[in-house]
Amino acid sequence: MSAQNSAAQNPDAGGQSGDRQVHILQLYPRDMNIYGDFGNALVVQRRLEWLGYEPVMHTYDPGDEFPKQVDIVIGGGGQDSGQDKIHADLLQQGERLRSMVEDEVPMLMICGLYQLFGHCFETREGQRIEGIGAIDVTTRGTDSRLIGNVVARSEEFGEIIGYENHSGQTYLGSGVLPLGTVIKGEGNNEQDDHEGARYKNVVGSYLHGSMLPKNPAVADFLISNALQRRFGEELSAETVAERIDDTLTDQARTTAVKRPR
Ligand code: GLN
Repeated sequence: MSAQNSAAQNPDAGGQSGDRQVHILQLYPRDMNIYGDFGNALVVQRRLEWLGYEPVMHTYDPGDEFPKQVDIVIGGGGQDSGQDKIHADLLQQGERLRSMVEDEVPMLMICGLYQLFGHCFETREGQRIEGIGAIDVTTRGTDSRLIGNVVARSEEFGEIIGYENHSGQTYLGSGVLPLGTVIKGEGNNEQDDHEGARYKNVVGSYLHGSMLPKNPAVADFLISNALQRRFGEELSAETVAERIDDTLTDQARTTAVKRPR
């Protein structure tokens, strides 16, 4: 495990060191970090700094010591081989992660880790790879690969924009809601129009990009739940607008949404 406190570079954070700390955990960055998914953790880190907090970044790879304090968990996608490498360790951490999910720790799980946070991944050859069952989804390997730009509409977050590349197709159980409805692209699978999953404070999604730079509403959802749990503080839209200039983000969204599939 490595931890890095970025408060040293952030003299404006205010308060005594430690009393505004928010601990971000990136799960398995060595093997589960394609398309720069680590960017999601960096977005949360930077937005926390702008909001006057002291983000502390932790990474966890197989065999590491699990950090004691965790306020936000972020996990990325990976090749099937990457999923293989972390699988045994993930199962070992399953109980801890399931109870964190039930405890409403905010989490963002992308693609490969989204799949493994579900019940299982059934490969094309019929092999059943157990997930940790933290969210009620199942995934089946297929012969078609779903690749390209995606736009999904979510009541909670507005338009969600990203890029998908997966051959596993995911189906939602009755215990979760879709993150959004696809307008462009496939999302979870080729059969229904669902993209991603929502359960407690977990967001599961197929969207790379990385996702959060173009979807700050999702980043602020993670942050506001973390601040609520840790400090009992509300994050208002006014505070976000006052402290964070999302002009470039909005421009990027306007461009990205027009991209062909
Ligand atoms: N290997 C998995 C699949 O193709 C996950 C891919 C990913 O994380 N992008 O379904």
